[in-house]
Amino acid sequence: MRAAIRSAAQLRCELGLPAGDPATAAAEALFPTFVSREFASRIERGNLADPLLRQVLPVAEEALPQADFVADPVGDQDAYLGSGLLQKYARRALVVATGVCGVHCRYCFRREFDYSALAAHRGNWNEMVAELTSRPEIDEVILSGGDPLTLADGKWDQLVAAIESVVTVKRLRIHSRMPIVIPSRIDQRFVDRLRSSRLVPWMVVHCNHVNEIDDEVVAALAMLTGGGIPVLNQAVLLRDVNDSVEALESLCRRLVDLRVQPYYLHQLDRVRGAAHFEVAVERGRELIESLRELLPGYAVPRYVFEQAGMASKSAL
Ligand SMILES: *Cc1c(COP(=O)(O)O)cnc(C)c1O
Ligand code: SF4
Repeated sequence: MRAAIRSAAQLRCELGLPAGDPATAAAEALFPTFVSREFASRIERGNLADPLLRQVLPVAEEALPQADFVADPVGDQDAYLGSGLLQKYARRALVVATGVCGVHCRYCFRREFDYSALAAHRGNWNEMVAELTSRPEIDEVILSGGDPLTLADGKWDQLVAAIESVVTVKRLRIHSRMPIVIPSRIDQRFVDRLRSSRLVPWMVVHCNHVNEIDDEVVAALAMLTGGGIPVLNQAVLLRDVNDSVEALESLCRRLVDLRVQPYYLHQLDRVRGAAHFEVAVERGRELIESLRELLPGYAVPRYVFEQAGMASKSAL
């Protein structure tokens, strides 16, 4: 985390790219640049069209007014229970474990929303435990953020122990991009802690393009699956990143070869600053149709959209 690249100027310089439009400063002021060394190393030098670069490089367009693109497109503010917990769906609650991520994805629906305010518990989990205890129907806790795996081991252990102490919780789902962006975060200690838990762990990683998967990522994923932890992937459909049959097919094929199941392909949430990433739903449906013809059924992700106020993610 300390070694990460923290400005567009630094990123461009290290990748041998020309200096950017001065207007990118406005984009960076809205959402700072943050790119792990590991992720940056998978970007092709000198290629402004690189599908990984597009996900992390601030561009001037982000700061332009964008009709229908808003600060909180998924209604998270309304779903807040307090104590770091969000509940939108039956019997599962999401914990905002931290506001920190191992990469800043320019299309993120959390880019403006102040998740650090939801993480105001600052690692004191007593209130969360009380809230979960008072809602015994909740049998699954989803750790999210930010990225929960940016917590250091000590804080991580405290969080897992707090959830284990709620007897009505059966499963622990971890939503993290860290196995992709800083794969060394997954070590034997981490896997052993989950294996020794009474909670059934499920890991959901976030990878949008096959180029994000290098040997270190393969090793991290193998450690998880080898430890008996089921791993799913969610991706976001992004213009000029993965909006082609070839890009999605090669991603899904690679994932299932690594025993990772493609779970969701998300339609972009209409967050302010991300309009240039949007792909039309019609096009998304065509892409999924093509994937069905090319891949085993279990390798085709569900194409979904999040609508505030609905009882589940909506199928597209
Ligand atoms: C997406 C989401 C979940 C998980 O939904 P699944 O369909 O079970 O993957 C849970 N809580 C919140 C607040 C979510 O946004
Ligand atoms: S890692 Fe996830 S939460 Fe963090 S910026 Fe990327 S998409 Fe958003």
